[in-house]
Amino acid sequence: MALPFFKYHPDPVATGSVEACDGRCDCCGESNGFLYCSSFYCAEEIEPQICPMCIADGSAAEKWDGMFNDDFPLSEAGISAAIIAEVGQRTPGFSSWQQERWETHCGDACAFYGDAPVAEVKALRGEALDDFLRREGLDKAGWSMIQRHYQPGGNPCIFKFVCLHCHIVIYQIDGT
Ligand SMILES: [Zn+2]
Ligand SMILES: [Zn+2]
Repeated sequence: MALPFFKYHPDPVATGSVEACDGRCDCCGESNGFLYCSSFYCAEEIEPQICPMCIADGSAAEKWDGMFNDDFPLSEAGISAAIIAEVGQRTPGFSSWQQERWETHCGDACAFYGDAPVAEVKALRGEALDDFLRREGLDKAGWSMIQRHYQPGGNPCIFKFVCLHCHIVIYQIDGT
């Protein structure tokens, strides 16, 4: 069966947040070929198996009163409550070393594209690089070390977000 479309996380299988497998969803009881395999925050000490359909329609978030993504960075950025609810309760999250932080641009949440490809990281220069280093609080020397050893899925990792409006790419460093 086809995956539901997630505006803010367009390919959750590619990013590793959802995987193809036969397990049954603890929310709808169906086994429909995919399960979520990233963070889910709820008050109870449980780790339910959740299918993408139950993420998309909000039923899993409602059932366990949980969240897939921390909404604090979005509310800090002044994003509307409707968008915060969509990202927090109806969008697959991602696994990061630190508390994950959903990027925003043009007054909206950005789309998450997982680990940045090595070629893109190496090609980063000019104004885009300066903006990135300023945002992440890095100097050029630190960056050249990180960039030289960067591997998708490694530590540190570099996540890629894209603005849905102006299409600017925002990279985010995460590591221990
Ligand atoms: Zn389900
Ligand atoms: Zn933008």
